[in-house]
Amino acid sequence: MKKIVIGIDGYSSCGKSTLAKQLAKELNYVFVDSGAMYRAITLYFLRNRINWDNIDEVRHALQNISLDFAYNAALGKSDMLMNEENVEAEIRDMIVSEKVSQVAAIKDVREFAVAQQQKMGEKKGIVMDGRDIGTTVFPKAELKIFVTAAPEVRVQRRFLELVEKDASITLEDVKKNLEMRDYIDSNREISPLRKAEDAVVLDNSDMTREEQLQVALEWVNEKIAWRM
Ligand code: C5P
Repeated sequence: MKKIVIGIDGYSSCGKSTLAKQLAKELNYVFVDSGAMYRAITLYFLRNRINWDNIDEVRHALQNISLDFAYNAALGKSDMLMNEENVEAEIRDMIVSEKVSQVAAIKDVREFAVAQQQKMGEKKGIVMDGRDIGTTVFPKAELKIFVTAAPEVRVQRRFLELVEKDASITLEDVKKNLEMRDYIDSNREISPLRKAEDAVVLDNSDMTREEQLQVALEWVNEKIAWRM
């Protein structure tokens, strides 16, 4: 059966990664969380005190970063490796979430990440989620899904995820972070978060995970049937 490229975009915490993981498992495709790459770069910048307002420092730092994904069989998903270190847990910390959108707005950072993402898609059979997958990374993706969910649903979902790791986190912290990231991501100059014109919209505010998977699988089947 022909393999396709599936790009999933949308605002923060609307279930893009969950859907991408579900689809990859169902279709036996590779799942790539492009946000993890921007988070790992941000972690490197924070740890090494890189002043990202200084483009020379940014360029030099990027030369020292290698990013990889390692399949974690126990969890059935890939972990982010930065310079061969597993940083999957650390990149989800609030300190990284607070800075990642600033770092992801930098042209050189985006070029660095996008080049690697495009390479991963060359063989097709991939589901990638992010903010610019349908518009910039894979403008020719066979299926583009733009996921949305009501803001309060997104805040609640992310809060439940984060509070498990850090009991001091509040709903208000999460709300502010999501609003700030969505604002920066949508208003940056390079590849702002946008629905690609040919993307289909999936509002999962009132859907279970199983329901959203079924909707997306129908779209996948239409695309695959159309290509055969
Ligand atoms: O997907 P996640 O919320 O982990 O992404 C973290 C941040 O990385 C986003 O808020 C955005 O600033 C950036 N990002 C991006 N382009 C992507 C994926 C993520 O700019 N394709």
